[in-house]
Amino acid sequence: MSNFVQEVMARVRAKNPAEPEFHQAVQEVLESISVVLERHPEYRKAKIVERIVEPERVIMFRVPWVDDSGEVQINRGFRIQMNSAIGPYKGGLRLHPTVNLGVLKFLAFEQVFKNSLTTLPMGGSKGGSDFDPKGKSDNEVMRFCQSFMNELFRHIGPDTDVPAGDIGVGGREIGFLFGQYKKLCNEFTGVLTGKGLAWGGSLVRPEATGYGNVYFAAEMLSTRGESLKGKMCLVSGSGNVAQYTVEKINHLGGKVVTMSDSAGYIYDEAGIGEEKLKFVMDLKNFRRGRIKEYADKYKVPYYPIDPKLDYNPLWNHKAHCAFPSATQNEINAKDAQNLINNGVYVVSEGANMPTTPDGVNIFINKGILYGPGKAANAGGVSTSGLEMSQNSMRYSWSRDEVDQKLHGIMKSIHKACVEAAAKYGTPGNYVNGANIAGFIKVADAMMDQGIV
Ligand code: NDP
Repeated sequence: MSNFVQEVMARVRAKNPAEPEFHQAVQEVLESISVVLERHPEYRKAKIVERIVEPERVIMFRVPWVDDSGEVQINRGFRIQMNSAIGPYKGGLRLHPTVNLGVLKFLAFEQVFKNSLTTLPMGGSKGGSDFDPKGKSDNEVMRFCQSFMNELFRHIGPDTDVPAGDIGVGGREIGFLFGQYKKLCNEFTGVLTGKGLAWGGSLVRPEATGYGNVYFAAEMLSTRGESLKGKMCLVSGSGNVAQYTVEKINHLGGKVVTMSDSAGYIYDEAGIGEEKLKFVMDLKNFRRGRIKEYADKYKVPYYPIDPKLDYNPLWNHKAHCAFPSATQNEINAKDAQNLINNGVYVVSEGANMPTTPDGVNIFINKGILYGPGKAANAGGVSTSGLEMSQNSMRYSWSRDEVDQKLHGIMKSIHKACVEAAAKYGTPGNYVNGANIAGFIKVADAMMDQGIV
């Protein structure tokens, strides 16, 4: 680590205490771009790095609501508007009990570079709440979303900040949030993405993160003259990203043997084919049940989470490819080593920062095809960007048109990573490639716009 990076990190830690995920995300980017800073003293002089680690604005607010038994509940809401140098703020909303300021700052920071990679004009933001949608009725979720929007509406807008979904926020929640925004502002605009098709949504948006991640993996494989056909794949999670990752792997001739939720995972040796995936989608999106029901129905092994273990057994099966699609830091160094020992040589991240820094080092030192989340899962926000374009035009593209644009964007992101990694001396290192390519575009825009 250069002296400069060490100094900035010391200041980031001191100014943002108790935010380990934010420190982790910043450190990774700074390590990648230190070579860029050496070649571009003008960025140092303009204090681009010191500015980029400071959110442009942080909004934190009370979210009171009344549950079905008449009890008053209080949650905390957040929106982190990290950087608007290249476009309106854009990034998802996460509803999960683990949400706090540091987690959302890490996600907003990652989003800045991810959005820059997409080729579309979007700044970076993230938001959410420590509200837990699990076990809540539809009415409770609606009352929470309405209360959340009662504050958020004054900070967002189609040309200011456009939120989308993330963990715990799918079509149902976006609907409630959009309805309340429309009522408060008396405006029907593209203020959120991931909307329903009948009210401004884009075809392929639900599929986009998972599909995009598999397109990215296919691009990485193509650098070795290979494809996904016949590949054995491990997927974690069973939410939006995981579901469409499995669907696209199946389309491209691969076989997925695992899916999980926060209680455990299933291992299906025969593969999670089309019919079984339909069952998972119904289970998770409508019945809101647990993945264990898959094991009961298809008579396959189920492994509950064992908190005593210092590794995740999901990552300890023979396979070629892994697609972590649940949450941050779900692959530690031991898991990374287990993956390598089991023959995995492609890791493409659907989740944001699912691998710890020690795990990332193992992948990079072994020279496997490792696609970091900010590149590999950028298909979701890219298609959100396409939804914004369609809303601005008051027009919608066909499924094929959107899918082709998504595919083209994922290829461009892959190319940008490969080229930046090679240009700055670490060919094949997608972490450096993604951080450098994402950073330079934002840094140049900040240089052009003065000290703001
Ligand atoms: P969903 O809420 O649809 O699904 C999340 C899945 O991950 C669920 O199976 C959930 O299990 C599991 N999970 C969540 N938190 C934990 C945890 N702490 N430990 C173990 N399992 C957990 O979310 P998404 O599929 O949208 O998001 C998954 C990942 O992809 C996140 O990292 C998100 O930031 C990232 N991402 C999402 C995008 C999108 O477009 N939706 C875009 C880019 C990245 P359970 O139901 O038991 O909680």
